[in-house]
Amino acid sequence: MTDRRRILNHLNDLLQSDRIRDYCPNGLQVQGREQVAHIVTGVTANQALIDAAIERGADTLLVHHGYFWKGEDACITGIKRERLKALLQHDINLFAYHLPLDVHPTLGNNAQLANVLELSMDGPINSADPSMPGNVGRLPQPMTGREFSQWIAERLQRPPLHIGEDNDVIETVAWCTGGAQGYLQAAIDAGVDAYITGEINEPAVHLARETGTHFYSAGHHATERYGAKALGEHLAAEFGVTVEFIDVDNPV
Ligand SMILES: [Zn+2]
Repeated sequence: MTDRRRILNHLNDLLQSDRIRDYCPNGLQVQGREQVAHIVTGVTANQALIDAAIERGADTLLVHHGYFWKGEDACITGIKRERLKALLQHDINLFAYHLPLDVHPTLGNNAQLANVLELSMDGPINSADPSMPGNVGRLPQPMTGREFSQWIAERLQRPPLHIGEDNDVIETVAWCTGGAQGYLQAAIDAGVDAYITGEINEPAVHLARETGTHFYSAGHHATERYGAKALGEHLAAEFGVTVEFIDVDNPV
């Protein structure tokens, strides 16, 4: 068991959350009990994850996607009310780290996706703006478009949507977890063979095809499963608290 404040200070230091501009607050979003003994980690603080945390008797939730996004309705109604009510009734802390968890060099979503896919981390996706999330690197060995698709499917347990020629050889790659289809141009500018992110949109298909850049839409949830999990394992080692990762599946 440890103090909530110690966890908060540790996470803020580790993730340097006050240095990163984001469209949600990072850190303790909802205050629960002071003593932390049992943390549930997950991708998104949805109702299913809250219910699972309550069922397991957890006192703290740690997620990548929390609440209070810039531009959203500030009123506590609908599903937001239900989620907050459940957290407050059960005195559960909600810690959420969005961009700070994407970019952490070892525990972050991008670093962890590189681990899972066995990609080397050779630099930022945008060398002119290293604060932009995303990285460039190399595959463990050259693969065809189809082989790399299978490689991703096996490791993320989800087949990606692949835009590109099945028989082209891919050696270099850029990636950014989540909904980073807008960074495809940065990947093209970096001169890589392929780009991996979670989601895809209609214009990205044309941009990929017309530049000959392979696009792998590998799932927003599937690509962002690993940061919160790694961060939780780190906290378990650091503070001796019980930590369990709960994967509430999301097909997108
Ligand atoms: Zn995300």
